[in-house]
Amino acid sequence: MESYDVLVAGAGPAGAATAIHLSRAGARVLLADKARFPRDKPCGGGLTGRALRQIPVDPSPVVERDVDRFELRLRYGSRFSREHDAPLIRMTQRRLLDAFLVEHAIAAGAELRDGAKVETVELDGTGVTARVAADTVRADVLVGADGANGLVARAIEIDGQIVRGVALEGSVPLEALGHEELERTAVIELAVLPGGYGWVFPKGDHANLGVGGWGSEGQRLRDHLARLARAHGVDPDAVTEVRGHRLPMRRLGTPAGSGRALLVGDAAGLVDPLSGDGMYEAFVSARLAAEAILAGDLDGYTAAPVGRARPPCRRVVGGEARVRPLPAHRVRGGKGAEGLRGRRRPAVRGHGASRRRARGRARPAQAHRAPRGVKPRVTPPCGSVRRRGRAPRSRRSGGSRGRSSRAFALRSLA
Ligand SMILES: Cc1cc2nc3c(=O)[nH]c(=O)nc-3n(C[C@H](O)[C@H](O)[C@H](O)COP(=O)(O)OP(=O)(O)OC[C@H]3O[C@@H](n4cnc5c(N)ncnc54)[C@H](O)[C@@H]3O)c2cc1C
Repeated sequence: MESYDVLVAGAGPAGAATAIHLSRAGARVLLADKARFPRDKPCGGGLTGRALRQIPVDPSPVVERDVDRFELRLRYGSRFSREHDAPLIRMTQRRLLDAFLVEHAIAAGAELRDGAKVETVELDGTGVTARVAADTVRADVLVGADGANGLVARAIEIDGQIVRGVALEGSVPLEALGHEELERTAVIELAVLPGGYGWVFPKGDHANLGVGGWGSEGQRLRDHLARLARAHGVDPDAVTEVRGHRLPMRRLGTPAGSGRALLVGDAAGLVDPLSGDGMYEAFVSARLAAEAILAGDLDGYTAAPVGRARPPCRRVVGGEARVRPLPAHRVRGGKGAEGLRGRRRPAVRGHGASRRRARGRARPAQAHRAPRGVKPRVTPPCGSVRRRGRAPRSRRSGGSRGRSSRAFALRSLA
């Protein structure tokens, strides 16, 4: 059975960021996602200022447009706008951003298995045994980053405590907005549906229109989206790629993990109930979870801001969750750590089709570091990942990297 320090289930922003932090510190991480990358995810793709302060890599290569103007409208009527001399939101597409983050996780040393669903997880006092596609793997810690409908939250019986809003979005050509100023403007339409708002976000060559609100609005979301489109002079039938997704929001006091399992991002129900954004929360929770794991203090995660909203629930993770402190020789900078970093070869589990797709793509990252304004679409950088066939067991698991040679960094990532 292959064994890892941490199994991260789900490679969206929360999972990839967790893997980046942990791998940079020398932990042996398996990052598994049921989808093949690059993959898309319904999302406005707006990176807010606070998200940009938490994201573990510079997303510039996958930013399609910077928005420096905000327009707030009320019931499709009165409005006001504000401008800033710096970007307020950086607009990307999740197909690009998520693949970019995954590529960074691999570069940091994480092993990616995409197209590999985490089918089952069995937690015990010392770790987790999981079925990942056809394989059984063992890890000291499980990070549930598997999104709004995640398996891990269900496995630790937390998902029932998460309230779910709903959102629906679609695309129109940028020209359809009909006004140049809107190409640098994020429009928020307030009070147009119960429990949420509508938005129009400009991207590289299209605009993203969406509506999100209480779960009870699910049946009416298409009508709400059509109204939003009409209010912006767009024929609702011209809106393409219409798709919906849940917005999971934890109730106060909902634990962010249990035992050896920690939840991050949407899996923990961390979508902001007011703004509806979730990438900031995904990045913050990823950092906090990684810090707790590296410090050998899983309880610390629920005592961190994720759990601090409700002091009585601080210690929701049982005493067994405390990870054994690691010996000094495994601290980053020690001999063992250096040796591990030198040997590490990120192994990407290959899939015939994705390998073939990958071969045709070169990473344009630097070339796309463009200034503000319209940016060319970039080829998903994940396409350039050197996807090998399944590496020999010795290489996948780091050869001699047994438990004794693992290198955590026992330091804060902050
Ligand atoms: C319509 C809409 C618009 C939004 N707009 C914005 C916005 O503009 N800005 C913002 O900050 N937030 C926005 N959000 C919220 C944001 O999209 C989420 O909060 C964010 O995606 C959370 O990231 P995550 O990594 O936790 O989950 P996800 O991005 O959902 O990633 C979860 C991953 O887990 C994988 N997975 C699931 N189950 C398994 C399994 N069993 N095994 C292996 N892998 C699994 C999935 O394939 C997926 O890749 C929006 C949400 C919606 C629905």
